[in-house]
Amino acid sequence: MSFESIFGTAPDGSWRAPGRVNLIGEHTDYNDGVVLPIALPNEIVVTAGKRSDGRIAVSSVGHDAVIEFALDELAPRSVDDWAAYPAGAAWILRESGYPIGGANLLFESDVPTGAGLSSSAALLCATSIALLGLVDVEVDPAEVARLAQRAENQYVGAPVGLMDQTASMCCTAGHALAFDIQSGSLDQIPFDPSADGLTLLVVDVKAPHRHADGEYAARRKSCESAAAQLGVPALRSVAFDSLDETLARLDDEVDRRRVRHVVTEIKRTEDAIALMKAGRLREVGPLFTASHVSLRDDFEVTVPELDVAVDTALAAGALGARMTGGGFGGCIIALTATDSAAPVLDAIEKAFAEKGFTAPSALAATPSNGASRIN
Ligand code: ADP
Ligand code: MG
Repeated sequence: MSFESIFGTAPDGSWRAPGRVNLIGEHTDYNDGVVLPIALPNEIVVTAGKRSDGRIAVSSVGHDAVIEFALDELAPRSVDDWAAYPAGAAWILRESGYPIGGANLLFESDVPTGAGLSSSAALLCATSIALLGLVDVEVDPAEVARLAQRAENQYVGAPVGLMDQTASMCCTAGHALAFDIQSGSLDQIPFDPSADGLTLLVVDVKAPHRHADGEYAARRKSCESAAAQLGVPALRSVAFDSLDETLARLDDEVDRRRVRHVVTEIKRTEDAIALMKAGRLREVGPLFTASHVSLRDDFEVTVPELDVAVDTALAAGALGARMTGGGFGGCIIALTATDSAAPVLDAIEKAFAEKGFTAPSALAATPSNGASRIN
């Protein structure tokens, strides 16, 4: 259905915001660490038209109903289901004093939902820049990301960090975005696998997210209590060089392994950034694999589907592979020579069929631009 046939008027413009995948730096964000996402070519496009009655109507291709609400009546969770995301974006913009008005919004997306590729952040960011664009207000992309995070935290009620929205707003093509959570700095790091004859595969292992929320909370708690016992504000402050001595000061064996993951992961992320800056992309592969082993054995957030996909990718010739995202489901990434990408994917599909797992799906992740106006 076209915009005109749904809303009965012509649109004023369209905007886009991409999904993201994190290359390395997993479970480091809430420890004041460093993350390294890229924006995906997969994105949410929103076509938007102004309304003069202070109401917002939203429709999404593949979802049946048009959902409508009044700007003046928005309050946290006043709109539910998927429309909570665009409603949340409108709510936080109003709360923050931006003079947005009513709008008709039609969304169309090729970001898989619920796969850990941040369709939720893309939806929030696309809505935010469309509502601002309709009233010709320019806002710094990093600030839009902070607003989108507050909408997801306070309106939708999801306790997410700032990585996803920042990636969707601030990434650039041919680069990964080094986001230092402690300092807030954003650095564009050259990352163009195709220029090196490489491909970054993203494989959705289609595993149900088992106990993900409770396990996530338990990991955060472990990190916080270990930091308290060590007398540091966050695990970022634990030096890699004296890690063994530091671990010996912790009473709890499980906490020791959680801390070892976080501290070694921050080091791997810094090493990956240095290699990418030096143009030594192939050497980043083993860091991905080491990250997976740490997430599997020390942080214990993998599931059989993630482990089988990584092991199979490596056996089929990938330079490196790891789970990405919070774990307990979601996706793996694999860095492969471009002519190995298809055989690696075939091997994973075959292994999943043999194990009786749901068939996986894959995309080639070209590092893409953050959110922008299309026309
Ligand atoms: P992820 O961000 O990993 O994709 P989330 O559970 O955080 O997973 O967000 C997925 C939710 O975002 C969906 O359940 C839906 O409510 C909303 N969403 C994402 N994409 C769209 C879309 N194109 N149209 C409508 N809602 C969407
Ligand atoms: Mg999400």
